[in-house]
Amino acid sequence: MSDTSAVRLRFAPSPTGYLHVGGARTALFNWLHARKAGGVFILRIEDTDQERSTDAAHQAILRSMEWLGLAWDEGPGVGGPCGPYLQSERLEIYQEQAATLRASGRLYRCYCTGEEIAARNVARGEQESAGYDGHCRELAAAQVAAFESAGRVPSWRLRTPDEGETFWYDLVYDKREFRNDLITDRVVMKQDGFPTYNFAVVVDDHLMRISHVLRGDDHVSNTPFQLQIYDALGWERPKFGHMPMILGPDRKRLSKRHGATSVEEFRDQGILPDAMINYLALLGWSPGASGDEVFTRDALVKAFSLKRVNSSPAAFDYDKLTHINAQHLKRLGPADRLALAEPMLDARGWALDPAWRAPADDTRGYLTKVLAMLGGRFSDLRRIPEQIGFFFTDDFPVDPEAAAHLDGTEIPARLRALADRLEAALPSQGPAPQEAYEEAVRGLAADLGLEAGDLIHPCRVALTGLTRSAGMFEVMWLIGGPRTVARLRRAAGVR
Ligand code: GLU
Repeated sequence: MSDTSAVRLRFAPSPTGYLHVGGARTALFNWLHARKAGGVFILRIEDTDQERSTDAAHQAILRSMEWLGLAWDEGPGVGGPCGPYLQSERLEIYQEQAATLRASGRLYRCYCTGEEIAARNVARGEQESAGYDGHCRELAAAQVAAFESAGRVPSWRLRTPDEGETFWYDLVYDKREFRNDLITDRVVMKQDGFPTYNFAVVVDDHLMRISHVLRGDDHVSNTPFQLQIYDALGWERPKFGHMPMILGPDRKRLSKRHGATSVEEFRDQGILPDAMINYLALLGWSPGASGDEVFTRDALVKAFSLKRVNSSPAAFDYDKLTHINAQHLKRLGPADRLALAEPMLDARGWALDPAWRAPADDTRGYLTKVLAMLGGRFSDLRRIPEQIGFFFTDDFPVDPEAAAHLDGTEIPARLRALADRLEAALPSQGPAPQEAYEEAVRGLAADLGLEAGDLIHPCRVALTGLTRSAGMFEVMWLIGGPRTVARLRRAAGVR
């Protein structure tokens, strides 16, 4: 094999559901460590549970990974020297390794059904779900023959040691130790010839030369058994790191009742992939003394270190995600803003009327100017249509709070006076410079003995329907003289 890189990490989701934030964070930490170390990041789909795996979930996971920008060096669609990367296509590999274990006497046949094991557990006064009791450990040849002639098909269990301890030095938790007599003999090959998760994961991590297994701490209880498999096959163990779980704001395990949990839900809520990545990185990893919280992808790769992954659970904070998202949105350049905003306009059917744009502009040029004008207000994608709608239609809604600026008997006359002033000041043909609008507004305010703001506030409502918008003169300049005048007259009650 040509690849000799020592640092190899993998994300190994089971395609039994969408990619949720916990899985995405696991993927991210693996990706970050691989990138930081100049190593390899592998995606492996663990679909040996045929009943629960679906193609829809498989596709959703790939889509979410792509959206997050967590590109894999080896895996589905990319290939690589250790493929296939879909466990259901590796059955022969598991069977071969199981044969090795059988030959060394480490596996034994077990004919028990789940119900039988549960019934015996209850009879012993234990919980139904307590582990396997070793019932078939020492079956005599005659018993095996009897089961076989009754048509029973065995599963294969690994005989684990009864004495001593199994331990490892966890990258996150430090030393973890389990008594061997408490590690049950779990099944490695099922009756249907499929491997169990615990077996397939070890075989694949070894054959794919995984150096670091970083995963959620819901797998801590599987690790001692998996270490027994490494030992039984005489394989070197990778390093293990188990990341603490993600809690909801109420510090209970994060679930749907807290709000969005899947990556695609956040995408649909207008979260940027870079912001999602930034926020997920902060869930369980602390960037150190600098206090910085807003990171580009490259900065994250530079700053990331497994040493600063916390061992205590992290609480998902929706407001903080929104805040980080806003920081990323504000920093986007014109091309990125345009790419995000165009589909939103299309979805509303806001194709721009040619009469709307300044002569030198095409639609995208106009939209680019509009978006640039939003400046720091480009911070919540869901609000963008409402913030820019008035650039595309006269039929924009008026915010009730903004409408209050039109109350007052003196307002219609002021708006009319401003419309008249602009009509007189602006050239009858072609666009006027921004300054022409500003001079007209300031000139009229001075003539009427008013502050410029006394004109600008009602004017803003007339032109935009909003309490806040980009600079008024810029707005006027962009929508153009005729439309500005028409809207002022409409708000003054004169058409
Ligand atoms: N397929 C397992 C899961 O989705 C992950 C296995 C692992 O990371 O070891 O939970």
